[in-house]
Amino acid sequence: MSNPLFDTLFAPHAGADTPFLLTGDGDTITHDAFLRRVAKLAHALSGLGVEPGDRVAAQVAKSPDALALYAACVQVGAVFLPLNTAYTAHELAYFLGDSAARVFVADPADAQSLAPVAADAGAELLTLDARGGGTLAALAADRPDRFPTAPRHLHDLAALLYTSGTTGRSKGAMLSQENLISNARVLAETWRFTDADVLLHALPIFHTHGLFVATNVMLLAGGATIFLPKFDPDAVLRALPRATAMMGVPTFYTRLLDAPEFTRELVAHMRLFVSGSAPLLAETHTRFEERTGHRILERYGMTETNMSTSNPYEGDRRAGTVGFPLPGVELKITDPATGAALDHGQIGQIEVRGPNVFLGYWRMPEKTAEELRPDGFFQTGDLGLRDGDGYVHIVGRAKDLIISGGYNIYPKEIELELDAMPGVLESAVIGVPHPDFGETPVALIVPQAGAVPDLDAIAASLRGNVAAFKLPRRLIVVDTLPRNTMGKVQKAELRREYADLFA
Ligand code: ATP
Ligand code: MG
Repeated sequence: MSNPLFDTLFAPHAGADTPFLLTGDGDTITHDAFLRRVAKLAHALSGLGVEPGDRVAAQVAKSPDALALYAACVQVGAVFLPLNTAYTAHELAYFLGDSAARVFVADPADAQSLAPVAADAGAELLTLDARGGGTLAALAADRPDRFPTAPRHLHDLAALLYTSGTTGRSKGAMLSQENLISNARVLAETWRFTDADVLLHALPIFHTHGLFVATNVMLLAGGATIFLPKFDPDAVLRALPRATAMMGVPTFYTRLLDAPEFTRELVAHMRLFVSGSAPLLAETHTRFEERTGHRILERYGMTETNMSTSNPYEGDRRAGTVGFPLPGVELKITDPATGAALDHGQIGQIEVRGPNVFLGYWRMPEKTAEELRPDGFFQTGDLGLRDGDGYVHIVGRAKDLIISGGYNIYPKEIELELDAMPGVLESAVIGVPHPDFGETPVALIVPQAGAVPDLDAIAASLRGNVAAFKLPRRLIVVDTLPRNTMGKVQKAELRREYADLFA
């Protein structure tokens, strides 16, 4: 009997004195030390009665122990369910109830306030902090450092990851061992990761990007990870000289570009910068190359599919595109109404199929049936096109499409125009209810530092560039756009805020 995920990512490192996690404090945790910690936590979980298939939910600070908890779940065959550290008690009640988690691991500081939430959901509450403290850590402390790995199949659930909730209530995506293994293999190979790599990791580990893309790739490659508790520009600038590669969300890159200390010399030795989870502005891509000489490699994925496309490692990394389908991943652009495949150049819904695509939404058979076709293609809800060279361009989310007086308006088209105007840093175009048109576009504009954009001039040049029906009915200057921790603009929030503009 075997446990393919554990046997692929973790077991091969047993006994290896090679560095695995380098903490911001200068500590090194070797692969072997990590695995021994994992075994102790696995004993603690199984001592609590956790059985293969049980959900273990965790809302804990990013730390080596939090990562070891993920691995311990794999080793006992449990389903790991990481939760955004920003979720409130009210939100947690939904996740714990929906997942019917057996165990809930929280930060010791929240233990008192979350006890009733855990009790209501029937989950046993344990705690873990970033310094190796908490009731779970105490249970693990004197347990053996070897654990008999629970047998699992490739198609068994490894993790239940809730989507970010950008377009509505978060859905639990059921990820199998095979989903995770296949994607880790493809990415390590595509991005040429080896045991000589040192990955700078400043992402959260409750989301697919930091948890699976970054961690699983490094475990497979056997390299080391500089494991920072969060993205702090100073800490990242200090760590970069030791790194060979970095993975980030677009805001990491814009914030680094804001730092004068972020220079070509500082990153001359780096091999790779990867961006994803939200669109990287072409302008950021260009500024990054001008400053550092490196071209950021942008890729596209989602909780339900892991990673689906990537710009090439060797070859042209094109700004404003997410590259090509990864090996083993099929991608097509379809008519959202009929599902018929569209030609290159036409905008439609992105659909993907492959070993990366999840098993379905947890306890939502209707939703699963709506979005996962019987032939295995998953309807991502993202709109895009493939250009003549095969590069995939993301145009936006289907739910953000504006339908005004019967005409489709793709916000991205107007945003790209606005972003290129003098004094504009970035923009968001949203559909707002309108008595005559059903919906009408409104533009929120964030000025460049110190600039006061001339809205009349912007409106005039827009009129010259886009069809009249697409013109935003209002241009509104705002300080910032609302973003979540992954750098995703929260358009649903903006739509709520401006819902009454024409009421
Ligand atoms: P929900 O599904 O709950 O509304 P979400 O889709 O934001 O939330 P995630 O699974 O975290 O939750 O995010 C996946 C989405 O992120 C994709 O569907 C896509 O819209 C966006 N995304 C990821 N990478 C990129 C990228 N490189 N460029 C543009 N968008 C991206
Ligand atoms: Mg989604």
